[in-house]
Amino acid sequence: MPSDRAPHAFPKFSSPDEERAHRKQRLAAAFRVFGHFGFDEGAAGHITARDPELLDHFWVNPLGMNFKHIRVKDLMLVNDKGEVVEGNWPLNGAAFAIHSQIHAARPDVVSAAHAHSLYGKSWSTLRRPLDPLTQDACAFYGDHAVFDDYTGAVFELEEGKRIAHSLGSGKAAILANHGLLTVGRSVDEAAWWFITMERTCQAQLLAEAAGTPVPIGHDVATKTAGQTGGHGAGWRQFQPLHDWIVAEQPDLLDE
Ligand SMILES: [Zn+2]
Repeated sequence: MPSDRAPHAFPKFSSPDEERAHRKQRLAAAFRVFGHFGFDEGAAGHITARDPELLDHFWVNPLGMNFKHIRVKDLMLVNDKGEVVEGNWPLNGAAFAIHSQIHAARPDVVSAAHAHSLYGKSWSTLRRPLDPLTQDACAFYGDHAVFDDYTGAVFELEEGKRIAHSLGSGKAAILANHGLLTVGRSVDEAAWWFITMERTCQAQLLAEAAGTPVPIGHDVATKTAGQTGGHGAGWRQFQPLHDWIVAEQPDLLDE
């Protein structure tokens, strides 16, 4: 049930422990939401949250655990060498190769999300950016990149570095022939950009299959991006999904 108060402002924390606990809760919730939307493909996909104290460490999902089962206590802490500092499951090599380089290149990024979702990977084969076809698509207008150099599964740090370079200062990258990657200043924001980018890919694929869609013009797309594409907007959009998944699946908070 919804709470009577409106908790929809980014929380403040009195200690790193409190902030860490919050990030881990949001991360576990984001995996459950990704599972709900069917973004998992076997063992592929990862969302990371930078540790608020050990800034070169991040929290990540265990390799091979279903997104729909992940609880706070299952999350693993990984250091800058790719060693699992907390947790007993294996680490996805690609999660380390990609996310370590993004967290290193972008100190502003708290969280990064990547999965092999159906419409994102379908769109990625076209190797072009998304057009501002809808209001939701405008959040990505001028703020996402195409990494169009697919060379196989990403297990090398050098490849992760090239992906981080391609991402630049943007909120998302389309990894050609692979899938989507999004980042944010909160787990909520990174997760939301992924969800809405996946659906934006779906919308453009549908529109182009049906006819010749008319994009929103540059000036209006730019203005709309300013209205819908900010960090706070991304965070806020995730809150209804967060509140729903925690109410439906409270075990995700098990520590
Ligand atoms: Zn991947």
